[in-house]
Amino acid sequence: LIVKLDYPQPVQALILQLKRLPGIGAKSAERMAIWLLQQAPSAIEEFGNSALLVAREIHSCPVCGFFATHEGCVICEAPDRDISVLCVVEQPLDILPIERTGIYHGHYHSLGGRLSPLDNIGPDDLRIAELQTRVSHGSIAELILALGSDVAGEATANYLIELLQLHPLRITKLAQGLPVGGGLTTADSLTLHRALENRGSVAPSARLP
Ligand SMILES: [Zn+2]
Repeated sequence: LIVKLDYPQPVQALILQLKRLPGIGAKSAERMAIWLLQQAPSAIEEFGNSALLVAREIHSCPVCGFFATHEGCVICEAPDRDISVLCVVEQPLDILPIERTGIYHGHYHSLGGRLSPLDNIGPDDLRIAELQTRVSHGSIAELILALGSDVAGEATANYLIELLQLHPLRITKLAQGLPVGGGLTTADSLTLHRALENRGSVAPSARLP
């Protein structure tokens, strides 16, 4: 009887966990597990505690959808942000590249995705009702649609334009030039800077259903 040699069970379990991380294949997971088991227990504890702390402390801000702690949201509670401008993004991750351009100082609203009938994602699956509520409070003068430049992003933008057309606000879209098919996170800072600066009002004809 030949027993196939493998790592002890706890190591195998760790490899399985690491393989769940995005972009990590079997080989990388194995290398990471071996690296981890060579560290001092105190270092591992720190590592695990960081992950645990994130899981316990970070939640989605009920207003903007960005990552918040129990101390609140750094965006919504900032006293120096312009409350008359609201930038709509697909994911909370899209907020950081816009912040890094350094030219935007308004507020944000993450939809938590985009409309995609093929994946059964409709308006009720996104934070669209929350957006309507924020808009109806009346303090927003400009709504910037910073959505993806692909079909689903365009469809989501068109849906929002139609939905919000009766509100007394200017709706603008990022200028063209963003990588097609990629979200905001794949755009370089200069491209995003230009797309924000050159954002245009959505033409009245486009605002008709
Ligand atoms: Zn917030």
